[in-house]
Amino acid sequence: MLSLVIHDSFFVKHSSLPHSPRLPYTVGMSAPFPMQVSLEFAINALAQILPPPTTLERPLVQAYGLTLAQDLTALVDHPNLDDSALDGIACHLEDTQNAAQDAPALLQLVGESAAGRIFTGTLERNQAVRIYTGAAVPNGATGIVPVERLEFGDADQVRVFQPARASDIRRKGSDFEMGQVGLPKGTLLGAAALSLAAAMGHPTVTVYQPYTVALLATGDELYAPGEAMPPGGVYNSNSVGLELKLRSLGLEVVVLPPSLDTPAALHTALEGAGKVDLLLTSGGVSMGKYDLVRDLLIEAGEVRFWKVQLKPGGPAICGLWQGLPLFGLPGNPVSSLVVFELIVKPALYQVWGRLDAPQRRFKAVATTPFKATPDKWAYWRGSLQFESGRPVVSDFGNQSSGVLRSLATCNALVIVPPQQPVAVGQEVEVIWL
Ligand code: AMP
Ligand code: MG
Repeated sequence: MLSLVIHDSFFVKHSSLPHSPRLPYTVGMSAPFPMQVSLEFAINALAQILPPPTTLERPLVQAYGLTLAQDLTALVDHPNLDDSALDGIACHLEDTQNAAQDAPALLQLVGESAAGRIFTGTLERNQAVRIYTGAAVPNGATGIVPVERLEFGDADQVRVFQPARASDIRRKGSDFEMGQVGLPKGTLLGAAALSLAAAMGHPTVTVYQPYTVALLATGDELYAPGEAMPPGGVYNSNSVGLELKLRSLGLEVVVLPPSLDTPAALHTALEGAGKVDLLLTSGGVSMGKYDLVRDLLIEAGEVRFWKVQLKPGGPAICGLWQGLPLFGLPGNPVSSLVVFELIVKPALYQVWGRLDAPQRRFKAVATTPFKATPDKWAYWRGSLQFESGRPVVSDFGNQSSGVLRSLATCNALVIVPPQQPVAVGQEVEVIWL
């Protein structure tokens, strides 16, 4: 049976830390915290330890990518008058109802209405007003004729070759009415949503204060790209991908210098994070002797779970360290990004009450087989394409968690439940990355 032994050097260097019951824990049996948890459990566990989000007001453009923290109601009607959908004329419907190419109606132009420049008079029968898109429809006018079906003559006369249409009048409040909730709480504030906030009359919006996340890569083997690297060295790629994932969610990120695999170095690195909302680490959570994030949390923290029924990314750990939420991502580059996507991101969405789903999921037809694992949900890297409009997905090939190329070149994660391999032609659930 698999067991975990915490090495003695840990206790020497951390004699001041509270002393937990001696390990080993026998996996799945005697650990005083949940192990091999479901994805859902893991998401909830992280959501529970994140601090309750506070709110702040931001100018619209600075709220981009954040989550709306209150229902946003319209301060005006839009449009705030009946206006024209087209360039053309406004007139009485009755005056053009028999107009045709060979039998044009003749109307008298009495003025114009442009956007922001209202025609203030009232339109009599057989009169027309030149009108432009977005301009207010004059009193009395009931229809619009597009400019393409008009001929302007002398003496302000216009020949009309088709009947005017009422449907080309955009009614007051037809987009939104004053007092209507245009954007509900939990909305992701993208470009369209923030345009709508502006259209509704708001110069600012109330959003959830972005968490500050300290990002710490761990590993004696890590070097910064560009640095000379000895045999056995590895360029620190996780810090780049994870920082970008965090920033894409609008979070503030403190990227800490990578930590060596000694308890003292790890301790110092984490203390260096200062006051943050979440400690996000990569590496050091698996079954090895130098997996010290695991040791730190088990011995000196409070573990909420360790290991998830997930491949890649099984060894993730989550808990509190010195009162701060800590999420330990596995070090393998694919695992760290996949676990971020499948656990960290949905937990943040949960805390923010986000209305959009963290991932775009749908069914695709497998064009290669996908293997299943005995006890974990597999998220294999796949190539998703559309063949005659139908989504199909094929295996990337090398599914090792160390092959970052698989994640960088594929565009989907293919979800294979435990013990249920997928055959060619079968439908399978995919996440479109
Ligand atoms: P660990 O989870 O610490 O056992 O690391 C597992 C694998 O991921 C090892 O091959 C590490 O070298 C690699 N790895 C860990 N951290 C990083 C990182 N920040 N960037 C790239 N690879 C990493
Ligand atoms: Mg390591």
